[in-house]
Amino acid sequence: KAKQEGRNNYQWFTNDLNQRVGERVVLRNELQKAIENQDFTLYYQPQVDGRSGRVVGLEALLRWEHPSRGFISPALFVPIAEDTGQIIPLSQWVLDTACRQIKELCEQGMTGPSVAVNISPVHFQRSNFVAGISAMLSKHGLDAELLELEITETVLLNNAERAIDTLHQLKRLGVKIAIDDFGTGFSSLNYLKRLPIDKVKIDRTFVQEIISDLHDAAITQGIISMAHHLRLKVIAEGVETEPQFAFLKKSHCDEFQGYYFAKPMPFAELQDFLRARMLTLEPGQPAGK
Ligand code: C2E
Ligand code: MG
Ligand code: MG
Ligand code: MG
Repeated sequence: KAKQEGRNNYQWFTNDLNQRVGERVVLRNELQKAIENQDFTLYYQPQVDGRSGRVVGLEALLRWEHPSRGFISPALFVPIAEDTGQIIPLSQWVLDTACRQIKELCEQGMTGPSVAVNISPVHFQRSNFVAGISAMLSKHGLDAELLELEITETVLLNNAERAIDTLHQLKRLGVKIAIDDFGTGFSSLNYLKRLPIDKVKIDRTFVQEIISDLHDAAITQGIISMAHHLRLKVIAEGVETEPQFAFLKKSHCDEFQGYYFAKPMPFAELQDFLRARMLTLEPGQPAGK
């Protein structure tokens, strides 16, 4: 009987939800295997300084290459990994790999760009987070300034005072901090002045409509001006077209990231890319990919 009721309850789910719930369970199990087999790779997307045209940063973006399903988007599996706690080993792997590869670039003479790693709030809020970052820098003999951590406003949600304290500890280590997806959260303005951070990343959704939507243009210029008054750098993400770049540059945005300059690419390709341009990228010369 219980089984029958279970079946009836089951029918409350729409097929769609049903499928999505099933999908999550499957993904969670496969994620476990993937972590054990290290079926991941990091792609890197260049961040370009508007004035010099130099590549000043590289954002590390996690890729899961599934043996039969191909690439699975981090937007899909990171939330699952956060629910299950699998994000911790995954995040360690990302940090370890990013530090090793940026060190490798330095040893090849490609000094200059730092590496930006996305940090889940679940990881950030762990009590041993700062110690882990410190250990990672030591392990690779990496200059702290070459590591940037991208966090979102969500880290302030549960315990803002504690998060701010963690940021101060990271600051003392010497790593850089950027607020990712800036403008999509809710709490930021009140805290922004208290956060020991270096950079604000304007979310792609603003950049997307910057030419066509006066509101997005105004918000973007407001963010840039406010950030500069707080002595923060501003980077725009998701810059896809020349008009977007021109508008942002005119609005005094400092740095740029997006398909207009380069798509995220595997490490080997990145090395060729950096070598070919000798660390410079002429603004206005899209990667063409
Ligand atoms: P994010 O940190 O905001 O990363 C930027 C996303 O925008 C990336 O998607 C990137 O490929 C994409 N992008 C860059 N330029 C353009 C552009 O010009 N046009 C468009 N349409 N998209 C652009 P991706 O790689 O799929 O990553 C999605 C999100 O997954 C990231 O957003 C980040 O929140 C998360 N993520 C990625 N890697 C990691 C990781 O190692 N750890 C954690 N915790 N989260 C990660
Ligand atoms: Mg990011
Ligand atoms: Mg972002
Ligand atoms: Mg994001």
